[in-house]
Amino acid sequence: MAVQRENEEVIRYGDLTVTNGIHVHSKEFDSAFGYEGNDLGVSLSTDRTSFKLWAPTANRASVIIYDSWDSNEKIIYPMTREEKGVWVYTHASNLEGKYYTYEVQIEDSINEAVDPYAKAVGVNGDRGYIVDLASTNPEGWEQNSNLPFFPSTDAIIYELHVRDFSIHPESGMHHKGKFLAFTETGTTGPNGIATGIDHIKKLGVTHVQLLPIYDYSTDSVDETRLDEEQYNWGYDPKNYNAVEGSYSTNPYDPTARIKELKLAIQSLHKQGLQVIMDVVYNHVFDAYRMSFMKLVPGYYFRYLDNDTLANGSACGNDTASERKMMRKFIVDSVVHWAKEYKINGFRFDLMGLHDVETMNEIRRQLDKIDPNIIVIGEGWDLHTPLHKNQKANQHNAPKMPRIAHFNDGIRDALKGHALYPQQKGFVNGENGKETALKAGIAGGIHYSTTIKGFAKEPNQTVSYAEAHDNHTIWDKLMVTNGQEEEAIIKKMHLLCTSIVLTSQGISFLHAGQEFMRTKNGVENSYRSHTSINWLDWNRAAAYQDEIDKVKALIALRKKHPAFRMKTAEDIKNHLRFEKAPKNVVAYTLRHHANGDEAKHILVIHNGNRGTRNVTIPRSKGWQVAFGEDNIKQLSRDTVRVKGISTIV
Ligand code: CA
Repeated sequence: MAVQRENEEVIRYGDLTVTNGIHVHSKEFDSAFGYEGNDLGVSLSTDRTSFKLWAPTANRASVIIYDSWDSNEKIIYPMTREEKGVWVYTHASNLEGKYYTYEVQIEDSINEAVDPYAKAVGVNGDRGYIVDLASTNPEGWEQNSNLPFFPSTDAIIYELHVRDFSIHPESGMHHKGKFLAFTETGTTGPNGIATGIDHIKKLGVTHVQLLPIYDYSTDSVDETRLDEEQYNWGYDPKNYNAVEGSYSTNPYDPTARIKELKLAIQSLHKQGLQVIMDVVYNHVFDAYRMSFMKLVPGYYFRYLDNDTLANGSACGNDTASERKMMRKFIVDSVVHWAKEYKINGFRFDLMGLHDVETMNEIRRQLDKIDPNIIVIGEGWDLHTPLHKNQKANQHNAPKMPRIAHFNDGIRDALKGHALYPQQKGFVNGENGKETALKAGIAGGIHYSTTIKGFAKEPNQTVSYAEAHDNHTIWDKLMVTNGQEEEAIIKKMHLLCTSIVLTSQGISFLHAGQEFMRTKNGVENSYRSHTSINWLDWNRAAAYQDEIDKVKALIALRKKHPAFRMKTAEDIKNHLRFEKAPKNVVAYTLRHHANGDEAKHILVIHNGNRGTRNVTIPRSKGWQVAFGEDNIKQLSRDTVRVKGISTIV
């Protein structure tokens, strides 16, 4: 059916819309309606409130104002259409404290939607909230917290879910499951061990990476039922520029979540910890219920044909970052978080679904705010209708300087393929993993004709063995080697972490990896019971020796810049793999690599069960920096290394 209005013919076409004969997915649509202003959303001043909405296929648009999150009484203010399909309404007073939505008429249907640019929302994110963000800043927030130059290869990232952090009954923290737990210091757990932020600080990591903290779907966690057991990782976005309510002490107060997240970030910064935010722009929870679809049907998503949404995300839809206004939305949103919340880094979920130009534009805009801001992502090669040269995945890493990709190569070489639980790797008894492991140790760069990677520079690689996805190392080892003694499993586990923390590239640990975290074998715990997901501080107390070893490895990495070389050229010049027996990888970091005070550093990883003799460069001066207990005998040119262990 067609509706004639203001000389524009709007035609229903599957789920898509065509305006004046221009299809929303065409280049012509973007050039006709692409808007470049930085004022979409609400702008507030003492005597004025302005609303700007991009909705070029709408025939009519209004602002709806409510007094509360659940009031049925509303005041409707019609908006005026300006250039590029932007609708505007300016109210002659300050509407702070009111709730709002937009209503648009698209062809013959009328849709009410939350402003995609809403910076604050009511409970469950069903209405936007008008707020003066400056009033949410904690005391001292204005102080410039930018650090001196911090190469991303110096980062040691600790990936953590807000609820997991504090919800355990013996966490010693008061604000269990809330942002405010990050403001608690001096907390202790079983046997008096340090918990919470003190534990993280003592561990020595540099960055805390938080799983989704933007407002995610009510179907995952209902903010009105927080007294009941609910759990979700939050990879199901609802309001990209607003904070999730379930982590606040009062989800009914739209400013509480904002203030409390800022307090958490301020506290982490005070402890010298930087904060990375996990962002999920590649898909939404439900395309048809999302504001994007209600306001400009079809525009923000990729389609396989006129009716079928692309699904490279395996979550039901893929957003279309290559389109001008989706790209702008992502860039604006990232800039919002970086500026308003002083976020120090972003981790892009399924980054391989985004396009190269969008990622580079994000890098450019973040550099204007603070060049230290880290950008990492999952650069997987995914099935989505975007040209292979445009996908922001590992294959195109050279086109995206200073954007890092998780290195699944080292992850799988260490302990076996993440998606095939029975498969083993270097630490748990698989032969022939040396070359794959060397590629990871060299930071994922193109090191030689046989040791190859995807990265042009080491700052494009995240070295890791465990993340929130898939089995934890412990659970994987239980599948592959569950019949073994616990002492052997512990050795295998520590060998994974030792290799990660002595490899080139950005280091990444999953929270609890330091105490051999288990989720009782649950491979995908995104909505498992809280007790599967929580950081178990009893286990932390029982594994203090293991925590101490991870602390020592982190301290070693921080002490020696040789483990953190900044360029591929440096790695090729200073890292030399030495001859070694089967299932042993030995290498030297030579000639004061990256300005290291040590002349040469020798690292040996023995993946075999038994002791191996490794010939080492002749020197009287070797000192043991890590793994003293793993040495059976050391002479001028040979070292006897115990099974499943690392020495430095
Ligand atoms: Ca929510």
